[in-house]
Amino acid sequence: MTRIYLDHNATTPVAPSVADATARALRDVFGNPSSVHAWGQEAKTALDEARSAVARLIGAEPTEIVFTSGGSESNNLAIRGVAEAARGGRRRLVAGAIEHEAVLRTLKALDGQVGTTALVGVDERGVVTPEGLAEALTDETALVSVMHANNEIGTIQPVAELAALARDRGVLVHTDAVQSVGKIPVDVRGLGVDLLSLSGHKFNGPKGAGALWIRRGTRLHAQLTGGRQERNRRAGTENLPAIVGLGAAARRLLEAHEPEPDDVTGLRDRLEAGILSEVPGTAVNGGGSPRVGNTSNISFHGVEAESLLIALDLEGIAVSTGSACSSGTLEPSHVLRAMGFSPHRAQSSIRFSLGLGNTRADVDRVVEVLPGIVDRLRALAGRGAAAAGR
Ligand SMILES: *Cc1c(COP(=O)(O)O)cnc(C)c1O
Repeated sequence: MTRIYLDHNATTPVAPSVADATARALRDVFGNPSSVHAWGQEAKTALDEARSAVARLIGAEPTEIVFTSGGSESNNLAIRGVAEAARGGRRRLVAGAIEHEAVLRTLKALDGQVGTTALVGVDERGVVTPEGLAEALTDETALVSVMHANNEIGTIQPVAELAALARDRGVLVHTDAVQSVGKIPVDVRGLGVDLLSLSGHKFNGPKGAGALWIRRGTRLHAQLTGGRQERNRRAGTENLPAIVGLGAAARRLLEAHEPEPDDVTGLRDRLEAGILSEVPGTAVNGGGSPRVGNTSNISFHGVEAESLLIALDLEGIAVSTGSACSSGTLEPSHVLRAMGFSPHRAQSSIRFSLGLGNTRADVDRVVEVLPGIVDRLRALAGRGAAAAGR
């Protein structure tokens, strides 16, 4: 059975050039970048090259890049680091309601500890509005965190506009750009933010390496203390092979010397159009706003998303529900709920996310098998409801 991977927003396959660079570093560059001798200097050079590539990718200076273990750590460092360093009675943290858990749960952990927190809702298109943000900002606000592209529905947030609004009030702005890097242009100056998170494994790099961009002059407390790595902003010997891989993934995007065989947006549109026309009772979530080109979140009326995911997996097709399974109970997606969808619609929604390696044949196969699976699940659900006397 040919397997079809449509879960690139969860993680991506490592590009061949990236795997080669990572393997070479793992095998040949074992020195500690902090060591003075030749081995150390060789490792330091590899680290600097990766830093330059990542900086160039987002229009930053190399000295503004702090390597981390990935998106979660970058988000934690940004929010906790700024919250601890904030002065002038600024003790309030604000974030969008559709942020990744690494932002939401960090805010939750800090609520009442370093200050107060607030979430800004989104409109029915899945977008944080300037009016909504303006209402949440106070003179006590230290930081606003608004993601660039959403991981579940792919909507692109008006970060530049929101950042301008926040900066006018002296509020620092962080953006989680984990889902936008590699999909749309990301330029830190153009966005007008102060901190930006990215993660290598979301753009065909290895897992375990990411970065936080920190605008020069931004006050931030390190969260890992120890050695003086990363200009005192993140202690610990660097994960050099993964960081070299992150640099190679950044260079790959900069050079685009491995063009994808089919245009990803074209494939996503073909998939979406195919599903909407072949499967009745379907609707696109977040389709009314600007989206990244690889993501499609679709609700299948009357179908349990979890059952659909399992049925597709049996056909060798990998997708995601985008909802977190906590303590055995399936929580409806906080993103779809924040957009005002019913728990029912949220629990019948599936995320398809495309990327490197996907083909037209993959998309056509999904559109071919889906109608039968959905029919079967709907019939089962109907029988279950009848048996329960509903
Ligand atoms: C995957 C993801 C993260 C977490 O990144 P890791 O590198 O897996 O820790 C954070 N934010 C968004 C939007 C993501 O999609």
